Amino acid sequence: MSSDFAKTRAQFHLPEGMIYLDGNSLGPLPRGAAARVARTVEQEWGNMLITGWNKAGWMDKPMRVGDRIARLIGAEAGHVVMGDTLSIKVYQALASCLEMNPTRRVILSDTGNFPSDLYMAEGLCRTLGPGYTLKTVAPEAVLEAIDDTVACTMITEVDYRTGRKHDMAAITARAHDCGALAIWDLAHSAGAFQVELAACNVDFAVGCTYKYLNSGPGGPAFIYVAPRHADVARPALAGWQGHAAPFDFDLSYRPATGAERMRVGTPPILQLAALEASLDIWDSVDMADLRAASLALTDRYIAGIEANCPDLALATPREHTQRGSQVSFRHPQGYAIMQAMIARGVIGDFRAPDIIRCGFTPLFINAADVDAAVAIISDIMQNSLWDRPEYKTRAKVT
Ligand SMILES: *Cc1c(COP(=O)(O)O)cnc(C)c1O
Repeated sequence: MSSDFAKTRAQFHLPEGMIYLDGNSLGPLPRGAAARVARTVEQEWGNMLITGWNKAGWMDKPMRVGDRIARLIGAEAGHVVMGDTLSIKVYQALASCLEMNPTRRVILSDTGNFPSDLYMAEGLCRTLGPGYTLKTVAPEAVLEAIDDTVACTMITEVDYRTGRKHDMAAITARAHDCGALAIWDLAHSAGAFQVELAACNVDFAVGCTYKYLNSGPGGPAFIYVAPRHADVARPALAGWQGHAAPFDFDLSYRPATGAERMRVGTPPILQLAALEASLDIWDSVDMADLRAASLALTDRYIAGIEANCPDLALATPREHTQRGSQVSFRHPQGYAIMQAMIARGVIGDFRAPDIIRCGFTPLFINAADVDAAVAIISDIMQNSLWDRPEYKTRAKVT
């Protein structure tokens, strides 16, 4: 299979005059999504009503859609299930790991992780009681910090601020050598490049779909449970949809086989329909082509900015193996610079304290977009166009 990125680009609605470099935060609207959701609303919800759970296959959607994501993350079919939000899936993976490794009480993560993952871990430790702790070290120190006190690692593969990418194979192997389990958060990996969960022997993985996978705001998360754990892991948040026989209405919980046990409650059918429209596009993409195109775009952006904007300091690794699909530069006035960019139609985002972050997604961004963005950012920097009071007032979402 060889990917045609001009063709995938044509399958997204991209507003006129906008260069959208934030598909890493909220993916754009697939052109097929509105019709797909409308069909689900009118033909399924409208005409089938409750019978849609059987007739339209709603009940099986979380596993069926999970299988389509499995290809993108190197997971075995039947071991990825959709539902809830990423924060909830992080909690479930952590709780299962701690229960499976009962003599240990330390969750190891890094200071580059996304706060919600850390908050979930802290909250779970508080619930479980004395001795349970979350330990965080610098991202570069994770490998060394894994020792025989660690119950599980909880690492986000690509740092949301810097775009630095961890070595999944090495950290997972080291965790296993020390008797720990490895959880990977793929929030900035799934759809950014090929992930190899099975080949890396990962225990649990979680991720969201509204970023690179374009399911729209509020799209469901996914969780992967390695086949060797699938019938062992006891789900925290045991809900009726993860029961072996939900319609037996048993008074006590008996988990479904495999990853399906991680389902909690009723799945978001309309949002899954939007995700399916996006996955139709993904089905035509070869992941090696995607990675090659992504690295060419991020290299081009780094070279362009460094040649024209000496005041911006690169925060993203130059080394390809250590880079996701985003590039970040630092500047003390990063917030104002990003507002000036947005005013000129170059949409990225700002991450405190000083990160100007842009994502490069070959499905709908090409070299001409990068060049146009570089020209606008260069103009903003060389002429201090960011230095206006209206660009310095912080909005609620940055
Ligand atoms: C985006 C992101 C989240 C967001 O979690 P939600 O529950 O979907 O809001 C969590 N963790 C990481 C690492 C993220 O990048």
